[in-house]
Amino acid sequence: MRKKIIAGNWKMNKTVTDAIALVKDLKTEISEQSAVDVVICPPFTAIYPVRETLSGSSIHLGAQDMFWKPSGAYTSQISAPMLLDLGVKYVIVGHSETRGRFGVSEDGWTEHHSAIFGESNETVSLKVQAALTAGLCPIVCVGETLAERNAGQTDSIVQGQVKWALEGTDADNVASHLIFAYEPVWAIGTGEVCAADEADRVCGVVRSAVGHALGLPVAEAVRVQYGGSMKPDNAAELLSKPNIDGGLIGGASLKAADFAAIINAAPKN
Ligand code: PEP
Repeated sequence: MRKKIIAGNWKMNKTVTDAIALVKDLKTEISEQSAVDVVICPPFTAIYPVRETLSGSSIHLGAQDMFWKPSGAYTSQISAPMLLDLGVKYVIVGHSETRGRFGVSEDGWTEHHSAIFGESNETVSLKVQAALTAGLCPIVCVGETLAERNAGQTDSIVQGQVKWALEGTDADNVASHLIFAYEPVWAIGTGEVCAADEADRVCGVVRSAVGHALGLPVAEAVRVQYGGSMKPDNAAELLSKPNIDGGLIGGASLKAADFAAIINAAPKN
């Protein structure tokens, strides 16, 4: 059985003072348990103080992005070795708020929609390879826009993103370290959650695409989260589905009681 993993993406929220206060609340709300992996991904500025405050807790530390080079003249960027040095274990890669969007066309890959920071499938691939090589666990976000869903392209978009993310990766490393998050773009931060059966179906599409690229044992080992307006009142249904191995939580991870309620809603495998 795959162990459930619940990760909180704090996005660009929380000063150091606010972050420390939230972690103290989380430590009170979340009992010590090993049945579910719990991860929080603060902004870079709060990672070090959060690490100090997490001391003695089973909550793991994650980051929201990284660059693929280990060091050098890359102003503004943060590398895998820098994250490891801070005690980070997980890193979100290819979130829809950092991606540009690529879709399948007759003659290959064509950019057709741009998001805030213009991340491409190629840069996601470089980051995944760098994260895995460094020993980090990348949480790789994939998912379709509303226009793509309405055009019947959900599966092909997700399959393409998975294929790109697995370029140049080692099967064993993927099985043991990589996590996918199926995050329909239209459900992120909107309050509009994907129906549980459909979320389960597309998480299954992600898993099949992993199997196509790296074989059935890897597909069965890799964990696939659902993300997009997961809240305490819809978490139990989503997390009960066979292909949904956890959640990537944005807004609801900013309140200790809500995040704890989602963790408690996860079946303990
Ligand atoms: C996210 O940012 O990854 C996310 C799922 O956000 P929210 O839970 O707020 O929809």
